Amino acid sequence: MDTPEIIYQMPGQDHRLFINVVHACPNACLFCVDFKGDAFYGFDLKQTAIINSDQIVSAIEHYPCRDNIAEVYFCGIGEPLLRYETVVDAAKRIRSLFSPKTLIAVNTSGTFYKRHPRVDFVQHFDLIQVSLNAESEEKYNAICRPKVKWAYQALMSFLSDLKTHLMRNDMTCRVELSVVDTTEVNNLPIGERGSTPPKPDIEQCKIIADNFGWPLKVKKLIKDCEDDSWHKFADEVRNYRAPIN
Ligand code: SF4
Repeated sequence: MDTPEIIYQMPGQDHRLFINVVHACPNACLFCVDFKGDAFYGFDLKQTAIINSDQIVSAIEHYPCRDNIAEVYFCGIGEPLLRYETVVDAAKRIRSLFSPKTLIAVNTSGTFYKRHPRVDFVQHFDLIQVSLNAESEEKYNAICRPKVKWAYQALMSFLSDLKTHLMRNDMTCRVELSVVDTTEVNNLPIGERGSTPPKPDIEQCKIIADNFGWPLKVKKLIKDCEDDSWHKFADEVRNYRAPIN
């Protein structure tokens, strides 16, 4: 296996490539796959190595048939924008490695904004996916269990600043908000299945998204991603890549 494991794929999504930037997050969401075993579909996304943009670019360069990739996501187990400059630099540099139609996206909790109150990264992306996950601070604290104070306010400030920035600069970058439906308790990490988990009010989340003028995606809990059976799948993806010297 290449160390650190930077790019990965998910079963049934051959057209998507994911970039794992950092295993650190200001949140500890009760549904996070971080609490679901050591591997995610057979990939080790929990490395502690500090990854730089050269390594990301190199990992992409060694992935063959990039023309088959329609979507690239900066999205792993952690908040990618904690490594703000790394993500910006890598996003800038990898665009020319894919066909011009390839969508470059980042998935964020928005909580990075507390440490890096900036939104200028958007100019390098076609899609910004933001995890809203709750209609109120109280619910957010129950579901996303932030390790920092005022995380929900940071998320809301980020969304407002993002909206203003896009409008002021007449940018066409798409934004999607999401909420995780926590109803299917058996798909939560084992440690969270004993009690009734807090549930987001999806209608209220939709109102928040509507007020910003962005769509809201309702996500289901990811299941079985920790099963040992996925190691074969991950090996196939890894073997598909050219060796990194
Ligand atoms: S924001 Fe994402 S990476 Fe962070 S704890 Fe929540 S689900 Fe996990």
